[in-house]
Amino acid sequence: MQNYTYQDWKSRAEQLSFRGQAFIDGKFVNAVSGKSYDSINPATGEVITTVAECDAEDVDLAVAAGRRAFEKGVWSRMAPGDRKAVLLKLADLIRAHLEEMALLDSLDMGKLVTDAVTVDAPGSAHFFQWYAEAIDKIYDEVAPTGPGDLALVKRVPLGVVGAVTPWNFPLDMATWKAAAALAAGNSVVLKPAEQSPLSALRLAELAAEAGVPDGVFNVVPGFGGTAGKALGLHMDVDCLAFTGSTAIGKMFMQYSGQSNLKQIWPETGGKSPNLIFADCEDLDTAADMAAFGIFFNQGEVCSANSRMYVERSIKDEFVEKMIARASATQPGDPLDPASKMGAIVDEKQTRGIMRFIEEGKKTANLVAGGERVTVDGKGCFIQPTIFDDVAHNDPLARDEIFGPVLSMIAFDSEDEVVAMANDSIYGLAASVWTDNLSRACRVSDRLNVGTVSVNTVDALSVQTPFGGMKQSGFGRDLSLHALDKYTALKTTWIKYKA
Ligand code: NAD
Ligand code: MN
Repeated sequence: MQNYTYQDWKSRAEQLSFRGQAFIDGKFVNAVSGKSYDSINPATGEVITTVAECDAEDVDLAVAAGRRAFEKGVWSRMAPGDRKAVLLKLADLIRAHLEEMALLDSLDMGKLVTDAVTVDAPGSAHFFQWYAEAIDKIYDEVAPTGPGDLALVKRVPLGVVGAVTPWNFPLDMATWKAAAALAAGNSVVLKPAEQSPLSALRLAELAAEAGVPDGVFNVVPGFGGTAGKALGLHMDVDCLAFTGSTAIGKMFMQYSGQSNLKQIWPETGGKSPNLIFADCEDLDTAADMAAFGIFFNQGEVCSANSRMYVERSIKDEFVEKMIARASATQPGDPLDPASKMGAIVDEKQTRGIMRFIEEGKKTANLVAGGERVTVDGKGCFIQPTIFDDVAHNDPLARDEIFGPVLSMIAFDSEDEVVAMANDSIYGLAASVWTDNLSRACRVSDRLNVGTVSVNTVDALSVQTPFGGMKQSGFGRDLSLHALDKYTALKTTWIKYKA
């Protein structure tokens, strides 16, 4: 890939065209109501394009298209090797449009285009490729019933999978759901976050170009309380994979109970602790990674390491290291490769983060950042912010802020820090920094979270399951385990004369 300059990205952005209509049954269409809304670039406040504002009627059309395709078998009963070839082609097409996909997410929700083009967009291609490759390598079971009985236990696709996704990694969150659900043979109806629908719409178009049949992959942009709710309550959706806030995850559980008992797979919020023990030898690497863990993607990461516990003997030294890294991570134009942090997704989120910061100034010790700023006089930007001496029960240490705000807390013993780390409604991820192997294993065992990263932060790959415990939800994305969500076990029992 080329090394793009700021000017390159700006001129590419100007030449970009946008798909704003819904993608239903293989075609771009307006919302039935004719309504649309503006998709805003948070770095400038400018309108990027208008987007179809789908509602229950559009969701009905998309689900019906998904069901028709599923029943016809054009995808669900396609030979595994053929389905694999289509999704491999999609991975190739994403790679061929890497810069475009990266720009769509960067313009739509403010992330650094450099990150989008090196992390998000290649990640999406890789995930599609990985699940494609798995399609013709997974075998079903024959039960040990004995002579005269042949009991086949097969994994079968569910039918129509609904997916409702957030705005922090728009393309990748759409991919985490769609790649696994499509690989398993389902039809998909995706409702992307209203703040960032553009990459998902382009993805659907690329999927069609790759050979995904009409109706198999539909995208219905719109708002949560209308389009998202309609998908959650739909009587003909078999499974709903959700990533977003804990509050909305709980609503989806209710939607299921109020409708057809569809499976709900919530992947929700987090407040991930980062534990730094004094016996960690390389404190500079720990600080570098800790800064990445909270400032990457403007801190808009469900598994962001937003509360940091540092052993008291090294705490003051470590706070200084973090302050230095915060001051080196100032926000700038997301299209400028020199920028270290991008824009917050929208005005509402920016104001919400600033409320936490303003309250925090009264209860804790602000040591870095703390201000909303503009870039070229515009946009939603917040300085990387650090609070020290945060009380364990302070909202700064307890609530998911979903912004570039780090809370630092001193600890004196292993038992104390494990207890504080676990005292949270969330349980998505945690990090542990120590050079004592027994401590690393012991503490990892005791942390009630889906992923513990030892001597790193946010360890993640398609080979390992990603998801949480407690109110971080119980869905698992990535790895072959994600296929469990999108398949049912089916027994076919054959009697024969032995
Ligand atoms: P959100 O819950 O507000 O929205 C997520 C999605 O749900 C959007 O598509 C939205 O339109 C839809 N939605 C909103 N209200 C709805 C309703 N009443 N009915 C149906 N659908 C509705 O979350 P967000 O602000 O977009 O994203 C941030 C949240 O996502 C954070 O809490 C973050 O931790 C979480 N997240 C979790 C993971 C994970 O894997 N655990 C990954 C990324 C983000
Ligand atoms: Mn936007």
